[in-house]
Amino acid sequence: MKEKYVSTRGGEKNISASQGIIKGIAKDGGLFVPSFIHDLSLDLASLKDMRYGELAFAVFEKFLDDFSPEQIKACIDAAYYSGKFEGEEPVAISKVADRYFLELYHGPTCAFKDMALTILPHLMTTAMKNIDIDKDIVILTATSGDTGKAALEGFAKVPRISIVVYYPKDGVSTIQEKQMLTQEGENTRVIGVAGNFDDTQNGVKQILNDHGLIEELDAAGYVFSSANSINIGRLLPQVVYYFYSYFALVKNQEINLGDPVNFVVPTGNFGNILAGYYAHILGLPVNRFICASNSNNVLTDFFADGAYNKNRDFHKTISPSMDILISSNLERLLYDLADGNAACIAGLMADLNTKGAYTLPEALAKNKAYEKFYGGCADEMATQVAIHDMFVENHYLMDTHTAVASRVYDDYLAKTGDTTPTIILSTASPYKFGHSVYQSIFGEIPEGLDDYAVLTALSEKTGTEVPKPLRDLDKKANLHDVQCSPQEMADCVKAFLKI
Ligand SMILES: *Cc1c(COP(=O)(O)O)cnc(C)c1O
Repeated sequence: MKEKYVSTRGGEKNISASQGIIKGIAKDGGLFVPSFIHDLSLDLASLKDMRYGELAFAVFEKFLDDFSPEQIKACIDAAYYSGKFEGEEPVAISKVADRYFLELYHGPTCAFKDMALTILPHLMTTAMKNIDIDKDIVILTATSGDTGKAALEGFAKVPRISIVVYYPKDGVSTIQEKQMLTQEGENTRVIGVAGNFDDTQNGVKQILNDHGLIEELDAAGYVFSSANSINIGRLLPQVVYYFYSYFALVKNQEINLGDPVNFVVPTGNFGNILAGYYAHILGLPVNRFICASNSNNVLTDFFADGAYNKNRDFHKTISPSMDILISSNLERLLYDLADGNAACIAGLMADLNTKGAYTLPEALAKNKAYEKFYGGCADEMATQVAIHDMFVENHYLMDTHTAVASRVYDDYLAKTGDTTPTIILSTASPYKFGHSVYQSIFGEIPEGLDDYAVLTALSEKTGTEVPKPLRDLDKKANLHDVQCSPQEMADCVKAFLKI
C-alpha cells in the first residue's frame, strides 16, 4: 500500500492507521494524509442500500490498513448502535422547502462532533492493541465549548485512557459549561482556566512540548495524545455521512444514482468539509462544496482569490464553533491540490507561521479540485434573519451554525442560479444555542428567564422538544470544580494523575 500515511510536510511516511491515530499530529507539525487515497474507489451501486454502519465499514476498511474486519465492526457498533444516538441510525435527513438538512446532532452532546468522538475512543483503544503500546494514554484538550463535552462523553470510562479538558472559565456558554462540569467518569477531569481560549490552547501546546513533564509521565507509565480535529481518527468517520445522505436522496427518488449534488458546510477548522472532499475522491458525485463562514471569513477570501490571510480582526459571534482564523485541516486540501508536493506545503505553512498569510501558487490554483469549492459568509444579522425566516416560513429550527450555511446557500442560489439538489450539513441542535435561536425568532429574552428556562420557553413557543441530553441539566450536580491560572495547567495534570 505505497507509503501508507504520510505527513503533509514530508517529515514522516509509512505510518500505519494505528500509529497515526495515536500520534495525532506528525513530528514536523504536518498532518497525516492517506498517500493512497487516489487509488481508492467505492462502487456506488453496491453501497446504496446499506445501513449507516455497513457504509461506515466500507469506508473504514479502505483506510484502516492494520485493523481487522472484526475490530472495525466492533468500533462501529460500540459508537453508533449502543444507544448513544437518538434514532435507529445516527443521522437524520429532513427536506425543508428546496433544500435537505443532514442533521448530525442527534448524539450524546447534541453537536456534530459526536459523529467522530463517539468512535475515536474505540479506534484509539484498538490502535493501542495493534501497535502494542504499553503506556496508558492521557488526552489533553483545550475547548471553546463543543469539542470538550463531546470528547469527555466519548472517552469517559474508557480503560487505559484518561482525559483532561481545559476551558476558558468565562469563555463558554452556561449550557456548555454545565454539560462539562456534570461529566461522570473517574478518568475525566474538567478544568476552568482563568484566561481566554488562546491562553488555554497555548497552555495545552506548552504542556505537549514540555519534555521534562513528558519524561515524568513516561516514568509513571503515561503518554500524551490529542483528540482534536486534525487526528485522522476524527476525519474518517466524517466521510461516511456524505455517502449516507447522498443515498438517502437516491432512495427518495430525489436524484438518480450518479447525479451530482451540492454540499453546504458550516466551516471552522475545515475538518467536516474536507471529509466531504475525501468522499468525492472515493467516487461520490459532487458538483460544488459550498464553504460557509461567519464574520471570520478567511476562507471566503481564500476561495475567491487564493490569498489566505489571518491578519484581520477576530470576531466573537453567535456561531462560536466557527470563530477560527487558522483552519488547520485546509493543509490537507492544499497537499492534494499540490499533488503531494510536501516541500510546497511546508513552504506555505512556514509563511502562515511567520507572516500569517500565504498565496496559493498558480499550479495549485489551476487544479480542478480548487474550482469545486465556493466560499461564502454570513454576518450576525444575516444569520439571525435566516433562523427567523426559516422558522416562520417552514416551521423548521436551525441552530446558529446551520443558519450560516443556509444563508450562504441563499446567496449562492441568487448569484449562480445553480439548481443542483443541495444538502446542508446541520451541525448542532438549535437547543445547544437556544439563547441566540430564541432571540432570532422571538426578540429579546423576557426578564427573569435564565439560560435553562430559555430552553423550556423555546420548546413551548415552537412546539418542539428539548433534546434529552440538555433536559434537566440545571438539576444535575457538578462533579468538577478545579480552576487554575494558565501557568498552573501542567500541575493540574500531575495532580490528576497523582504523580
Ligand atoms: C466544530 C463545529 C463546526 C466547524 O466544523 P469544522 O470541522 O471545524 O469545520 C461547525 N458547527 C458546529 C456546531 C461545530 O461544533
